[in-house]
Amino acid sequence: MKCPSTGRFVNSGTGLPLQPLDIGHEDFVALVEPDTALWMLVKKEKLCDTLSDRELMSSFKDRIPDFKLEMQTLRFGLKPSAVYFNPTERCNLNCSYCYIPAAMRKDGEHMSQGKLIDALARLKEYFAKTVHGGRRPQVVFHGAEPMLARDAVFAGIKEFKDDFNFGVQTNATLLDDKAIDFLTSNGVGIGISLDSSVPEIANQTRMTWSGEGVYDQVISTMGKLKGYDSYSVIATITEKNVTHLSDIVDFLHGWEVPTCMLNVVRCTLPGARDVRAADDLSAKHFIAALDRTHELYRETGRKLTVANFANIVIGIIAPPARRLMCDISPCGGGRCFFALAPGGDMFPCSEFIGLPEFKGGNLFEDSIADVIKSPAFNKVTERKVEDIEPCNKCAIRHFCGSPCPAEAHEMNGSMKETGAFCEFYEEQVRYAFRLIADGKESDFLWDNWDKGTKTMFDIKAL
Ligand code: SF4
Ligand code: SF4
Repeated sequence: MKCPSTGRFVNSGTGLPLQPLDIGHEDFVALVEPDTALWMLVKKEKLCDTLSDRELMSSFKDRIPDFKLEMQTLRFGLKPSAVYFNPTERCNLNCSYCYIPAAMRKDGEHMSQGKLIDALARLKEYFAKTVHGGRRPQVVFHGAEPMLARDAVFAGIKEFKDDFNFGVQTNATLLDDKAIDFLTSNGVGIGISLDSSVPEIANQTRMTWSGEGVYDQVISTMGKLKGYDSYSVIATITEKNVTHLSDIVDFLHGWEVPTCMLNVVRCTLPGARDVRAADDLSAKHFIAALDRTHELYRETGRKLTVANFANIVIGIIAPPARRLMCDISPCGGGRCFFALAPGGDMFPCSEFIGLPEFKGGNLFEDSIADVIKSPAFNKVTERKVEDIEPCNKCAIRHFCGSPCPAEAHEMNGSMKETGAFCEFYEEQVRYAFRLIADGKESDFLWDNWDKGTKTMFDIKAL
């Protein structure tokens, strides 16, 4: 026998490796098995008894193989099911933190209508092999500003409306009544961007090439989208708006926005780093904003879901039900989805457009399956928390995922480095556990988020 340990004792021999996690709750502490992301919440005064409760630990340990398999599938077994489709390199705005180089946004190329239709046909053929079970692959027209290629985009949506779930991520300045009517009547998801509830702040980061803010145009579009369910607003957290996040959620809730994202600025390009807010400050105000969404929900019965946080909560309570793929390692870039540039060049994620060494191939010249396996894509899909200090020792490594590879590479010099934020993710996970301890987590999630899921392990049932 190679190892004499019978695994009876927690944290020694082959016993269950459990890390206690201070979640900042008055009564509870979390115990996490980091590799499988299996966890339990324990009353603080019961921690020692729990760790030496052989029956409980043995039941916990028995589930490890199932959860290992689930985590393995989620991390390494998924096939692409979505594409971020950039139909143009150009943008009518010059936002301070954009990840697409300014020269591209100013003078870059558009994809012609014929090419766009051809691209969708190729994508349809590829996804038929990777997306099964009656699901539809997703195509999100993304930026630069996709509405600058509106005729081609709308022609593509018309022709392939039965083949894909379509979405458009836009700066909202070019959405006239006709465009809104077309998109809403075709059930296209619409994401728009707004960084503050007041123009003085919003206009500091999102502006035209001549420096004029676009707040008024975005608000006008929000008025027209009121009542449309498949619509969301992204606010990018920077030093300009970080102390106003609670005002933003108040404002968006007042406008009856169903879903928003409060995303820390991705620091892939230097311009974004100049407006980056401090990690701890971002965490503090982000959590205050989450508290505010909960108050609003309690007061009005109407939720404003903060999708990027909801995804963290789901990553804890039902990992495979995640909808976004930044907070899992490897992240979804290049394995669950990829990005397509207007000339057909393929990148693991839109964050890499503008970084030629991450081009994996070209949609019109190469097989998609080959591009997914290309060395350029592998650099991203093979980046995993186990290889990154200090993430490899972090108890919450599979609730955070150590994003973002583009930031790590460009800002910190290597795929084996962390990205721009750590405490922001730490605090989100601790807050999520506090909500779970208080039985409030569903208040922060989409309605019916658990449709199609089943409970695999309920500690209360032991
Ligand atoms: S972590 Fe970065 S590269 Fe990965 S999916 Fe998110 S934005 Fe893209
Ligand atoms: S970035 Fe920070 S919170 Fe995330 S896995 Fe690494 S050490 Fe943990």
